[in-house]
Amino acid sequence: MTRRGLLLSALAAPAVSRLRAARLEIFQVRVNRRGNWVLARVSTADGLSGLGDASHGGRDERTIGYLKQFFALLQTRTLADIEWLRQAVAPEVAGGGRPAAVAFSALEQCIWDIRGKALGAPVYELLGGALRTRIRNYANINRSTPERDPAGFAAMAEKLVAAGFDAAKLAPFDDMPPKLTDPAGIGKFTRAGIECAAAVRKVLGPGRDLLIDVHSRYNRERGLDLARRFEPLNLFWLEEVVPLRDIESLAAINRAAAMPTAGGEALFGAKGFYPYIAAGAFDILMPDIKYCGGLLELKKIAAMAEAAGLPVSPHGPASPVGNAAAAQVCATLPNFLILEYAFGEVPWRAELIDPPEQLDRGCLAVSGRPGFGIVLNEKTAARYAV
Ligand SMILES: [Mg+2]
Repeated sequence: MTRRGLLLSALAAPAVSRLRAARLEIFQVRVNRRGNWVLARVSTADGLSGLGDASHGGRDERTIGYLKQFFALLQTRTLADIEWLRQAVAPEVAGGGRPAAVAFSALEQCIWDIRGKALGAPVYELLGGALRTRIRNYANINRSTPERDPAGFAAMAEKLVAAGFDAAKLAPFDDMPPKLTDPAGIGKFTRAGIECAAAVRKVLGPGRDLLIDVHSRYNRERGLDLARRFEPLNLFWLEEVVPLRDIESLAAINRAAAMPTAGGEALFGAKGFYPYIAAGAFDILMPDIKYCGGLLELKKIAAMAEAAGLPVSPHGPASPVGNAAAAQVCATLPNFLILEYAFGEVPWRAELIDPPEQLDRGCLAVSGRPGFGIVLNEKTAARYAV
């Protein structure tokens, strides 16, 4: 394009303050027993559109209900009004739990994607500029491993190593009932889980990173014991040993554990994270772009973490849309550590977006195209529609 052409196109670009949401579309694609992917697409009357990931809200029909409700609110303002929308939906998010938080977060993602496209800029430029062009990911194999034993986890770990990842996460205590109190039963599940983790460590070797998610199956006393028992496996982190509501126990385990501890995936907003930072509950914070309030909120949470000297590792076994959105924020964070990637869920994952998702040695390239740099591949979405 000539210089004159560039100037003219810039003049023709609609100002964000004039952009209004005209249409909401929802796409649901079938993934696995752990949940489907729900995608929102918002379009303006000018023909711009933006994507958001609304997956894993717990109950997709409720998420979709909130998407429609919040979209109606959004239509009363312009796409410049993210802070206004955040305030307007706050009562519903406080009362509606995760489906409402996911719906707002997804609409917020759509707004940023459209804004970037309207301005002809990648979203990271609107969030302070990129510090990096590649985002390191760890492969979460928990959702894609059907055989929950050492051989099953080891087989999936072989695949992630072959795919070029240098970090893996599993949650090897998922089979333990959360309310189990019988010491013999807990002992059995604990030994079995550590054996699964040891099998994955063996495949990874000493040069790759192993992350363990406990999914809050333990209490403080047993959690302290668990942290000690994991010491020989040289963990990158130990995640959410006790339930999130028990901040004091999380902090006690964090102080005592030899390895870093991480958590916070279910928390909404900067206000949700503050008590955990203040209490020293985690070494590493894990806001999820699908739950925490979206890109701007993730940026605020990361700034708060930065002030406390903590790194941020966004949670997100997401669709490729969620990872593309998260990558745009992660590129701008001085305290970014590593992003989550849901490994091996469906073979057509990359083709759900256009251009297809590309990973190089476990790293996601940050798109420099306008918005998130992607559009939905509607053929793939239709082929695997729920
Ligand atoms: Mg987790």
